[in-house]
Amino acid sequence: MKDYQFPDEYGFFGEHGGVYVSETLIPALQELAEAYKDAKNDPAFWEEYRHDLKHYVGRPSPVYHAKRLSEKLGGAQIWLKREDLNHTGAHKVNNTIGQALLARRMGKKRVIAETGAGQHGVASATVAARFGMECHVYMGADDIQRQAPNVYRMKLLGANVVGVTSGSRTLKDAMNEAMREWVARVDDTFYIIGTAAGPAPYPEMVRDFQCVIGEEAKEQMLEAIGRQPDVAVACVGGGSNAIGLFYPYIAEENVRLVGVEAGGLGLQTQNHAAPISSKSPIGVLHGFRSYLMQDENGQVLGTHSVSAGLDYPGIGPEHSHLADLGRVEYCAADDKAAMDAFHDLCHYEGIIPALESSHALAWAIAEAPKMSPEKVILVNLSGRGDKDINTVAKLDGINL
Ligand SMILES: *Cc1c(COP(=O)(O)O)cnc(C)c1O
Repeated sequence: MKDYQFPDEYGFFGEHGGVYVSETLIPALQELAEAYKDAKNDPAFWEEYRHDLKHYVGRPSPVYHAKRLSEKLGGAQIWLKREDLNHTGAHKVNNTIGQALLARRMGKKRVIAETGAGQHGVASATVAARFGMECHVYMGADDIQRQAPNVYRMKLLGANVVGVTSGSRTLKDAMNEAMREWVARVDDTFYIIGTAAGPAPYPEMVRDFQCVIGEEAKEQMLEAIGRQPDVAVACVGGGSNAIGLFYPYIAEENVRLVGVEAGGLGLQTQNHAAPISSKSPIGVLHGFRSYLMQDENGQVLGTHSVSAGLDYPGIGPEHSHLADLGRVEYCAADDKAAMDAFHDLCHYEGIIPALESSHALAWAIAEAPKMSPEKVILVNLSGRGDKDINTVAKLDGINL
């Protein structure tokens, strides 16, 4: 895979990706694509991005050997890339910093974002405050009810949270509404998408901003163990933390790459959010083409996952392409396995992981015992789990 070069000039990753939007959005996406191309080739842009990642986000995030957990499992050594230690508690801020810098470069003083669980909304509100921009976050009305602490966080940070009452009143509808709003205010508004999905150039741009994860990991693992891990694993919602870890490893063919989708109540039920593992057909949603959970009439299916951040019926186009190429393996961990992994990491390492990240951990916990102790699994710990303790308590039958 030395010659892996995607997307192509039309924004495609093989059969996936592209720009599937109404005519009215085409000029905005062209303006964005040109501005990003210009920024991508400007060392000063990356210098400022790296400066903010260091001084504001607290990067580099360490890699950590989860020794007690590894010993207890009695197989491969588990290492964690600690994205949970970033400012705002997850990898999402790597991307919002990058997009906010681009918005400023384009002279846009107003940003909008969509959010499901509220994590991307918080990361967007954070950088909007940091750069002195007006911020509006679109959020499904049901999600606003379920994620009250994050809604309040966004408000504290000065953002306006807009409730979306159409459709299923969740993330999918919030994204539709944000796109509609962008069409209406394209001249002064920048749309910050929170994952490696959406129409081109978003999947490429978000990947580039998240690649800092894999680039750091490569240096850090070499320094820590003198080589690269045997396996690198990450959870996949839209796919931004996973592509950020995987992309710098694509040419390293000895490193096995594993993406873990949300298995929900099981792939045999319809209550999951695992488009690739459940062998969903290709479809179009939110401006791009990719594997998509849909019924035989092409209607997008409802999803379920214990982790709100993985609860999305689609997947970023580059993941679909990497699955087609066979370079990344995709599988699913169900709610129960993720919950068990959550408790294991709390218990053995003193780290409360995000429920999203617990899906990647669940894979490592299941596979490590089958591997010899010389093998190394690097897990992307995409976020911390403080936001999830109410969900976990409820599932464990505890009233907080
Ligand atoms: C949002 C989120 C995810 C899922 O998003 P990706 O774009 O797939 O990375 C995973 N982990 C955490 C902690 C999140 O907040």
